[in-house]
Amino acid sequence: MKITFWGASGGEVTGSMHRLDNNKASVLLDCGSRLDKNQIPLPDRLKRNTNVNAVVLSHPHTDHVGDLPNFVEQGFKGGIFSVHPTKDITAALLFQNEPRHRAESVMEKYKPTVDHNQRVEVAEGIYVTFIPAAHILGSSFTLIENNGLRILFSGDVGNKNKKLFDFPETLPEADVLLLESTYGARELHPDFNNSLNDMYHSIDRTISRSGNFPISVFSIQRTQELLYHLNKGKYEGQLPDDLRIVLDAPLGEVVTDIYLHYREYFSDEISSAFNMMGNPFAYTTHYDGKPCVILASSSISGSEGKIVQHYINGLENPNNTFAFPSYRPPGSLADRLARGCDTVHLRGKSLEVKAEIYDPRGFSSHADATQLFEIVKMVKPKIVFLVHGENIPRIALKEKIRGSVGEVILPGIAEEFDLETVLSKRAA
Ligand SMILES: [Zn+2]
Repeated sequence: MKITFWGASGGEVTGSMHRLDNNKASVLLDCGSRLDKNQIPLPDRLKRNTNVNAVVLSHPHTDHVGDLPNFVEQGFKGGIFSVHPTKDITAALLFQNEPRHRAESVMEKYKPTVDHNQRVEVAEGIYVTFIPAAHILGSSFTLIENNGLRILFSGDVGNKNKKLFDFPETLPEADVLLLESTYGARELHPDFNNSLNDMYHSIDRTISRSGNFPISVFSIQRTQELLYHLNKGKYEGQLPDDLRIVLDAPLGEVVTDIYLHYREYFSDEISSAFNMMGNPFAYTTHYDGKPCVILASSSISGSEGKIVQHYINGLENPNNTFAFPSYRPPGSLADRLARGCDTVHLRGKSLEVKAEIYDPRGFSSHADATQLFEIVKMVKPKIVFLVHGENIPRIALKEKIRGSVGEVILPGIAEEFDLETVLSKRAA
């Protein structure tokens, strides 16, 4: 079987897309948009071949599913496979971001969705099993089996310190592991509960000086997770009982409804929160000008989304606090703000940053290097390909795990490997 890396390789984090071919059929793992600013120019990618039997989706973040409309438009005629919530969130994302006919053309390709741990043949002789990855609702490791060869693709791996979803206690062994490496250079994430308590204090301080607390959020997962922790903070008395939680994220509203629909996917902690708190993701969309927490949608760079208007309205007010709990590409607007820059230019205006800036650590939805290493130990692969990471974390993770596996490869963009050849070299 051959593997070709069409994205999230060569030091890029986004554009997750890896093609597997045996001599009868081919399968694409993820079909994500490339969002990196300095992406490697790609003649090979322009010539990519849509003659693929199946697309298999790990989870519906844009950098894992966002290129589906282009792939279908360019001629993909196969089927799309995933677990149930991934299909629903993919539909929500595409109908929000794409012209209707482009979103529809993707959803028409969808095959019946499956449950976690249910094995399905996606193309001739190629079997897939989705295994919970605890990164977002429904997110999955993908086990691919073909003629005795076993490949495990991590997709994005959740941060075990967080409790929304249960992380699997065991993972199947595989010959080849495709492993994300976003935080490959961070040995341990800061303690999650400390980060949360710290954020509660920062909110309290801001509200008591009559400021607003806008939080820059992604609509899928970070929004729902913060809604849960804010509601929990109110329920447990760590936040004022009358604190208003405003959601300014149109896609975030739709996705929150989908989260509410799949209660069986959550951990026991969230299941009991449903019983105790009613709706643990409760929010209002009504902003009445009184001090509040605002979850505002943001693109990965911070320069698009509802947050931009909140920057314009609120960055110059020293009573406000702006929080940046999500991944930010170095040098982006969100990154510069989170690092405490003095001025920003937005929509033709120059704004002096007088608001407090809060950069909570520990909220990552990705595994740290220690957790990634635990996965390697469970899967016991002969070869690991490190994907979905900048070069510094990829190299750091390679150093950490190299003694435990036969070979660690950092694939480049459009690079191709014959898996049997690489495996037999290892055996020799
Ligand atoms: Zn993701």
